[in-house]
Amino acid sequence: MSTFKELGLNSQILQALTDLGYENPTEIQKKAIPQVLSSKQDLKAFAQTGTGKTAAFSLPILEQIDAESGDTQAIILSPTRELALQIANNITDFSKHLKGVKTLAVYGGASIEDQVRKLNKGVQIIVGTPGRTVDLINRKQLKLSNLKWLILDEADEMLNMGFKDELDKILAVTPKEKQTLLFSATFPKEVEGIAKAYLKNPIEISAGEKNKGTDQVSHQYYVVSERNRYNAIKRIADVNPDIYCIIFCRTRRETQEVADKLISDGYNVDALHGDLSQAQRDSVMEKFRSKTLQILVATDVAARGLDVTDLTHVINHKLPDQIESYTHRSGRTGRAGKEGISIAIVTVREKSKLHPIERLIGKKFISTPIPTGKEICQNQLLKLIDKVQDIQVNETEISDFLPSIYEKLKDLDREELIKKFVSIEFNTFLTYYQNAPDLNDSEHMRGVDRNSDRGSKRRDDENMTRFFINIGKKDKLNPARLIGLINDQRIAKNIEIGQIEILDTFSFFELDKTYEKETMSAFEGNDVDFEGRSVNVEITTKQRTGQARSGGGFRGGDRDRGPRKRTGDSDRGNDRKRSGDGDRKPKTDFGGFGRKRPGAPGTISKSTFGSDQNPKRRKRI
Ligand code: AMP
Repeated sequence: MSTFKELGLNSQILQALTDLGYENPTEIQKKAIPQVLSSKQDLKAFAQTGTGKTAAFSLPILEQIDAESGDTQAIILSPTRELALQIANNITDFSKHLKGVKTLAVYGGASIEDQVRKLNKGVQIIVGTPGRTVDLINRKQLKLSNLKWLILDEADEMLNMGFKDELDKILAVTPKEKQTLLFSATFPKEVEGIAKAYLKNPIEISAGEKNKGTDQVSHQYYVVSERNRYNAIKRIADVNPDIYCIIFCRTRRETQEVADKLISDGYNVDALHGDLSQAQRDSVMEKFRSKTLQILVATDVAARGLDVTDLTHVINHKLPDQIESYTHRSGRTGRAGKEGISIAIVTVREKSKLHPIERLIGKKFISTPIPTGKEICQNQLLKLIDKVQDIQVNETEISDFLPSIYEKLKDLDREELIKKFVSIEFNTFLTYYQNAPDLNDSEHMRGVDRNSDRGSKRRDDENMTRFFINIGKKDKLNPARLIGLINDQRIAKNIEIGQIEILDTFSFFELDKTYEKETMSAFEGNDVDFEGRSVNVEITTKQRTGQARSGGGFRGGDRDRGPRKRTGDSDRGNDRKRSGDGDRKPKTDFGGFGRKRPGAPGTISKSTFGSDQNPKRRKRI
């Protein structure tokens, strides 16, 4: 095996690597370092995130940098501020024993004047986001005429983020004879296009197969109805008491919504997306890195700068629009030799999207049933027993209390005592999942069986909020007119409408629980009139009477969609018991994994992950 020394690096760099604890070069480092040290030929490198590519391109550049000159000799372009900062910090670490070598990260959202001041002192290595780099070039503050190396890192992401124009502008002001290095984890045709346009006769190196995910990751999929997507995530978190994961969402809004729901359900979660201020993003990332947060809900872009090596799971709340992004997402787990699980939550209709991904990653998704309440209870119980086994008893502090405790419990034998202590936590959890429905999409589990529809519709009631409305038959209200009225409020596109009950002077209707607040504010804000009556809508806890006029499954929201159809059954049952998944705030005292006990926020200590002795309380951000 070659060592860093054998790759041709000088003693100051070797010392820095030793300081960092890097013992041996990774595969991409073994290939890229000697190549860049020995040749001026352009380089096209395929490397997954987390394989050590920052050192792969920066070490040979540091070896050759002219510290005597203050000219900018290398520029690394990176898609996000976080990644730019991470790379700049890495390079600063690698060069800490090299005299006179300066590295600067330039990125938007921070004072450009500060960056200009630092640039003017002479910086040999710039790590920049494309937008800010162009800004600095336009202001004539960044001169790239003596550039020797241009590195395009995460080229696929830069294109995804629409930086093609900026790349063109930057390339236009660099000298022809520089060496260009392009690193990408995936290689869709757009990146091939960039490689063709910007690289001259490049050498191609690869650590692992192109576009392939790591072997350490297993890929699973769960099939659910749209409304059970969120509940499936809760089950995954609950059945894995030690989960440490990122839930990927496609949009900022989706990210915030999923995070908000999980937070209000008591999970130890926060959101990471571009609508947050930089300070908020830094704070969330730091909390996630230090494992103060166990679950991060993030957009693809925002999660790019996060250097976390030991995620147990990656969850795709929805599959990404671009299939290459799946490789990036799943590549966040299974790093540094550890095993990881990447889960895709899909509806029956989305199942076909898995095939192209399977071709891309060269692996099959395993169809996995959503954990049942019983499985969750079992795992949580085992976790509890582990905690009991590991807990350190503070003999000195507890000894004063023991005599009276023994006295009180003297009539209980060992078995009874164990059962009772365990039940303190377990009962409440058991209650929560007692009547929990099967969330697996019945159509998927039984093949396409239309007759099973009724069963699956029944399950959906937990996801509905029931509203009272002060108009009824006397006001000439009927289901169609009520749906029209709801649609007129423009609450959300394609909002699900559940049961409708029209009574003489008032009525009830159900809407997707997700839009509870929006529904209330739409009706309040729009000052709605119906047949001359001022409409008043309230959330009600009144149970169904069983005199339903129609079943669930109407879709509202978009008036141009033509006649609305019923898709459900009319007798959805009025004897249902509420159970686990649907409750926004579970009435259980059980923490579950990553879950704080309702009523006592922050009571899951860091011990869920690490030392049980640490009673440090977690804080919600
Ligand atoms: P990167 O792909 O450059 O983001 O690196 C991923 C992680 O691996 C970072 O935490 C690096 O510090 C670490 N790393 C990179 N190269 C090595 C190495 N040769 N030995 C140990 N850790 C490394």
